[in-house]
Amino acid sequence: MVQSLWNDGEAGEFIARYGRAYGEDLALRVYTSRLIGRDEDLVLHGGGNTSVKTRAKNLLGEELDVLAIKGSGWNLVDIEPAGLPLVELEPLRKLFALASMSDAEMVNEIRRGLLDSKAPIPSVETLLHAALPHKFVDHTHADAILTLTNQADAATLVEESLGDRVGVLPWTMPGYPLAQAVLELHARRPELEAVVLLQHGIFSFADDARESYERMIRYVRAAEDFVRAKLEAKGTKAFLKLESDTERPSAATVAQAVQIVRGAVACALEGDGPARMHCSWRDDETLRAFSLRPDCRDLLSQGPITPDHVIRTKGPYLFVSKEQAPDRDRVAKAVEEYVQQYGAYFKTNAAGRDAGLQMLDPLPRVVFIEGWGMLSLGVDKRAAEVAADIAQHSVVSKAAANEIGHFRALPAAELFEMEYWSLEQAKLGKKTLPRLAGQIALISGAAGAIGVGIAECLAEAGAAVVLTDLDLARAENAAALLRERLPEATLLALKMDVTDEISVGEAFAVATLEFGGIDIVVPNAGMAHVATLEEMEPANFRQVMEVNLTGTMILLSEAARVFRRQGSGGAVVVQASKNVFAPGAAFGAYSASKAGQHQLGKIAALEFAELGVRVNMVNADAVFGDAVPSGLWEQVGPERMKSRGLDEKGLREFYRERSLLKKSVTPRHVGEAVLFLVSDASAATTGVTLTVDGGIAAAFPR
Ligand code: ZN
Repeated sequence: MVQSLWNDGEAGEFIARYGRAYGEDLALRVYTSRLIGRDEDLVLHGGGNTSVKTRAKNLLGEELDVLAIKGSGWNLVDIEPAGLPLVELEPLRKLFALASMSDAEMVNEIRRGLLDSKAPIPSVETLLHAALPHKFVDHTHADAILTLTNQADAATLVEESLGDRVGVLPWTMPGYPLAQAVLELHARRPELEAVVLLQHGIFSFADDARESYERMIRYVRAAEDFVRAKLEAKGTKAFLKLESDTERPSAATVAQAVQIVRGAVACALEGDGPARMHCSWRDDETLRAFSLRPDCRDLLSQGPITPDHVIRTKGPYLFVSKEQAPDRDRVAKAVEEYVQQYGAYFKTNAAGRDAGLQMLDPLPRVVFIEGWGMLSLGVDKRAAEVAADIAQHSVVSKAAANEIGHFRALPAAELFEMEYWSLEQAKLGKKTLPRLAGQIALISGAAGAIGVGIAECLAEAGAAVVLTDLDLARAENAAALLRERLPEATLLALKMDVTDEISVGEAFAVATLEFGGIDIVVPNAGMAHVATLEEMEPANFRQVMEVNLTGTMILLSEAARVFRRQGSGGAVVVQASKNVFAPGAAFGAYSASKAGQHQLGKIAALEFAELGVRVNMVNADAVFGDAVPSGLWEQVGPERMKSRGLDEKGLREFYRERSLLKKSVTPRHVGEAVLFLVSDASAATTGVTLTVDGGIAAAFPR
């Protein structure tokens, strides 16, 4: 239930904070914009927009009437005055004398009117805000309003529920045509307090910040009450509730299905490599109950509840039955059908248009698994979360619409118009994707110096990184350290014992439910023990073999099963050692385990090639940590220092001098080597050993 969050004290604080520099109008505009942004039932992410008409001075000191309107790239929930660029009002209003105007002309006029040429681009609804005489204008895509307006008899429902102070306009493309329609409506009915745009959303307006905001709340609340009363009258008590005995699959079963779905989507396009995306998995009661409704398939196949969502979620969502979900071929077929349908939608609607119009990628962004939950996909984790938030609200609104009437989405041709509208695409921005965009990496022993170095390089390249370690607290510390360096990084710290196949299986499942699957695996966990063969305790030897060798085997084994399910290739980099080729006396357990591990890496290169997975080895040496200590050196450093009569600094110096390049090897050197071996730069390379040791002739691979 939406409710007014207006608070006189808070409003006063905003005036105190922004009033002096920006004026009271803008201070209150920021305040009520944030109040709207706080409620997800009103707007989600970049959705909705707000404006205020006020006065400002230009460089000459002349006072002008201006429109302060939400700029692109800002969300209402945390908007600042800088997110409400000022546009001169009179020139905008004069434009209404024109019979028509192209989008490019409209954008040009709006940008030309900016008081600050470097300000963000004002909303595509700028002219609509300018058309209304009211000082404050608020616009949302509120769920309950959309439940009423995606109906055959939407206009009647709106009139019945919201009363005679609310105007109704049929679907009209945003931009100049919609602004003109609002202008005409207001001229006929100046008493209106709000306008509902069918299949789009609602505008409220007033000369006072609080009144405009509270009109929005009042009308959305009226729509909510109306919908609820209808649901109750129908006796729909169990609306989106599960029967208590509904079966719930295990996390492992769900994770396997998620790997299959994400992999099938990644492989659905011919041509360039797999289109891997980051995912979000949600399985709350509402989503699961929705997925079991008899009308679920039909509702998912229809377009979004407001066309603005199409650029985040695509029009239709994909439905996978619980019988299909564990079967790779059947899931791949379902994805293929989705892609074909999207192609047909493009072909039909692009016919007769600009021949240069390029089809966007035809891959689904939201996938429901019957009874289990919902998977969303995006170019990065944030995009996947945005799609999930939108889908979560959309399906509730769609189901409610079907309960009180018949949900009817905007026709495909109109949706296409919005999806391929240049102004809508501009909202997404043109980012060049980083090298490992959409990929997910899992590193064992990630809490030590080398692990952090690898994680840092992979995260910088856009991969989501799962830092696993036997010591969860240390893994969390490592993730926290990386977050300081890379605030945008997508990271997850997990406890994982490489010697325990159950623990490894669980870690892969948890990582899958968090990000969608695993594309890169770096067996990096290791331990050392210093003893001559003469003095070696078998128990110590066994322990080193267990972690370094058996641990790598267990990891590779689980990775192979995941890679096969996904079918979208991948990369493995085994963290071996300089000791593989140049072992050290009194270092038998470590050197033998590393030689075995290195051999397993080659076996994996042989076996995984058919899965499109490349496996390579890195032989590093004498890598000391700085911000994070090296676990290995904590174990063997004191012995080494003692045997050579050196302190820690002296020991580092000793290793540096020993190398051909006289270079200290850093965790980043190792990380960069791993990044090269997992990225497309080395797409034709598998089974090789890359040394990162400063140059040690005795350890040259041979
Ligand atoms: Zn809108």
